[in-house]
Amino acid sequence: MGVLVLAREDGLNPKRVAATKGGEYHSPCPACGGKDRFIIWDKLNRYMCRQCKKRGDEVQYRRDFHGLSFLEACQKSGIAPKDKMLPKRALSPFSFLPRIAKIPPGAWRKEAEAFTRYCHEQLKKDHFALDLFHKRGFSNATIDRFHLGWNPTSLWLERSQWGLEEGKKLWIPKGLVIPTHDLATKDLIRLKIRRSDWHEEDTLPKYVEISGSMPVPSVYGDPKNKLLMIVEAELDAILLHQCAGDLCCSMALGGASKRPDAEAHKLLLNASRIIFSLDVDSAGAKAYRWWKDVYPNLKLYPPPAGKSPGDAFIAGIDLRRWVGVVLD
Ligand SMILES: [Zn+2]
Repeated sequence: MGVLVLAREDGLNPKRVAATKGGEYHSPCPACGGKDRFIIWDKLNRYMCRQCKKRGDEVQYRRDFHGLSFLEACQKSGIAPKDKMLPKRALSPFSFLPRIAKIPPGAWRKEAEAFTRYCHEQLKKDHFALDLFHKRGFSNATIDRFHLGWNPTSLWLERSQWGLEEGKKLWIPKGLVIPTHDLATKDLIRLKIRRSDWHEEDTLPKYVEISGSMPVPSVYGDPKNKLLMIVEAELDAILLHQCAGDLCCSMALGGASKRPDAEAHKLLLNASRIIFSLDVDSAGAKAYRWWKDVYPNLKLYPPPAGKSPGDAFIAGIDLRRWVGVVLD
């Protein structure tokens, strides 16, 4: 489409003033106004504001003035993100050296197991909490299989009780309890809580990883499965497993900026297809660039609605069908 056409559509009424660089146009700036401070070079398909210094190409225009994310702007402009994102860096599957993650201490695992069991029982008794899972599409079989739970009260414990080094109290917030078990050993290795008392102004995170958890992605399903779907949140990966576990193996990073550990890296290198389905906000776009550099067989496939597969489910999307489309 081009910057000039966009500017016209936005009612800026750009006027041709010179033949510089194949045609120079002036107009008010969509951000800071004025009369003729906004310069468009039509041939180059670029713009610059002399006042606020905003400048860029068509993709940047949509980000600056239409509030789109990088990936959305690429989509609208008909530009493949990879063509813009890959000023090739030296990264490759062989130059990324993942960390070897250490399993949590025995005392941690024991306490975490007991806590998870307790929370699973609490969930069964609490209709409000159970409903939170059901509304997000989780079946009772899935809740049982993945030992999902409900912690009814926030706890502040002594770290030593969980085999951790002394420090601030160990915070275990009230909310939905999401344990991760090692695929091979079945050991409980990570504990995440989706806080039920979280609100938009909260300065603390909505998802809290309990101290001492193993810094690894959560993997659900058979890693030998050909298709590996990467999502951000554990609950999304579990829901994908419930809906389409026979079609794909799902991996939750537990945060857009998280990187795979050595085990997960091995799994990723062996996957014939990797589908990257993180939210296309700026953090997601930045993460995508890194992942695509390291795993060239990775394909971007953003959630079909909302910010995640879980949102899409609530919006009425058939997740199984959505995964099936990638396989076609
Ligand atoms: Zn401006």
